Amino acid sequence: MTTPPLTLGDFQIYWLDGGNFRLDGGTMFGAVPKVLWQKKYKADAANAIPLVNDVLLVRTPKQNIIIDTGLGNKLTAKQRAIFQVTCPWAVITDLAGLGLSRDDIDLVLLTHCDFDHAGGIVMLNDTGKEELTFPRAVHYVQKTEWEDVEQPCHRALSTYWPANFNLLKKEGQLEIINGDLDVCPGIRLRHTGGHTRGHQLVELSSQGETAVHLGDLFPTHAHTNPLWIMAYDNYPLEVIDRKEEYFSHYRKLDSWFTFYHDPQIKACKLAESGEISQTWPPSLHQ
Ligand SMILES: [Zn+2]
Repeated sequence: MTTPPLTLGDFQIYWLDGGNFRLDGGTMFGAVPKVLWQKKYKADAANAIPLVNDVLLVRTPKQNIIIDTGLGNKLTAKQRAIFQVTCPWAVITDLAGLGLSRDDIDLVLLTHCDFDHAGGIVMLNDTGKEELTFPRAVHYVQKTEWEDVEQPCHRALSTYWPANFNLLKKEGQLEIINGDLDVCPGIRLRHTGGHTRGHQLVELSSQGETAVHLGDLFPTHAHTNPLWIMAYDNYPLEVIDRKEEYFSHYRKLDSWFTFYHDPQIKACKLAESGEISQTWPPSLHQ
């Protein structure tokens, strides 16, 4: 964890190392021609671009909240090679650096259940046995997302891995919600759809300040144009609609937009023009 925390009223937002990987740049930018996206995001000779999986830790005066869980430590050598994982999942180490243990996490909010977001729900302990990573935490997921975990379509089979959910089903505290919910003061979940059928966002507000985590609707700062979406998106037109709606709504609130997959910029604010007006860390302001 190298990024300093962002203070939002009484809350603090940390970015924990959920492991990094490299994915095909073309897939990350869908129909956008490479000649355009490569100006914002450099690809290597194999057309892959570096991405992180930043687990957000939100500390409120009363609770410790995790948003998405990173790649986890269950990937096989073959999976690590396929996804070009070079930096391991270090969420537990990062928590320890803040004086926190796995038992200190109260809530886990899952934007959706793709392996890169749900991989850290269940971890291998020192003896190689599977355990819930955050055994005391209530895990929140949308109803339609959970239906697709239980009965994945052909396409989802490759990304909703049973090993990430079996233990949660058996002995975890799972809260399946249908639509929008105020989880606790200042923390709201909103169903978005778009990337997956049951994708949700997390809205944080404290002392008049707002941040929104759009998950895979806004994976990196290079996806600021609402039309720049991923080939991974299951409902592309819905993603474009939702991005236009949320960008407009949260911009008016002068909200931070926090990122999960961006290797450099951890959060940004958007100007009326749609351009990035402020970044976190501040030194990256363009
Ligand atoms: Zn993702």
